[in-house]
Amino acid sequence: MNQELKYLLNKIGIENFIEAQKFDIPSDLANIDIQIKKCDRCILSQSRKMAVPGEGPISAKLILIGEAPGENEDEVGKPFIGVSGELLNKMILAMGFKRDEVFITNIVKCRPPNNRNPNEDEIIICSNFLEMQLQALTPKLVIAFGRIAAQSLLNTNKPLAKLRAVIHDSPKFGLPVLCTYHPSYLLRKPEEKRAAWEDLKLAMKFLAQ
Ligand code: SF4
Repeated sequence: MNQELKYLLNKIGIENFIEAQKFDIPSDLANIDIQIKKCDRCILSQSRKMAVPGEGPISAKLILIGEAPGENEDEVGKPFIGVSGELLNKMILAMGFKRDEVFITNIVKCRPPNNRNPNEDEIIICSNFLEMQLQALTPKLVIAFGRIAAQSLLNTNKPLAKLRAVIHDSPKFGLPVLCTYHPSYLLRKPEEKRAAWEDLKLAMKFLAQ
C-alpha cells in the first residue's frame, strides 16, 4: 500500500478498505525527479527554492539518506553540498566508493524553513517519492544519516544511539538499513567520528559479503 495514500485515508477516518488501484511507479529516476520538482503536496513547496530529489546512478548498491535539504542544497537542487557534503564525501571515499557511485537523497525533498526538522505529516506525505526511488534502485544497503532518517526508515521513536552499530531490516521498505551520525552532527561533535567510522566499517563488511 502506498504510504501517502494510506496516511491520507487514515486522516479522514478510513482505516480498512480494499486497494482498488495500484499507483504507477516510474521505473526511471529521471521521471521521479520530474515529479518531485513539480510537487506541491506539502507546505514545504511554498518556501523551497529548489526541490532536491537526490542524485546517483540507478545501478548504485549503496544509498545514503539524510533528513532534508539545507540552505545550500535548496539553492542548487543537489543533496549534501557545503561543509557537511565535504565530510560526507570523505566518508564515502573511506568506504571505498566515489561519490558518483552511490545514490544520495533525503527523507523529504524540500528544505524546511530555517532548517527545522521535517514534521511527521511532511515525512509521511513525501515518503511516496522515497518509496519510488527505492523501487527503481536495487540497493544492497541503505545508510541513514541522523535521527530523523533512522527513525523514519525504521518506523521507530528510539534514539539514534540505540539504532546505530547494527544492520536492521526496514519494516517500511524491506531493505537492510544501517544508521549512523549525520555529517552535520559530526562537525559539531567530532568526538563521535570514531563511532561513525565503526558504523561505516560495518557497512563495508556487509557490502563485501
Ligand atoms: S517535501 Fe516532498 S511532498 Fe513536500 S513538496 Fe517537497 S517533494 Fe512534495
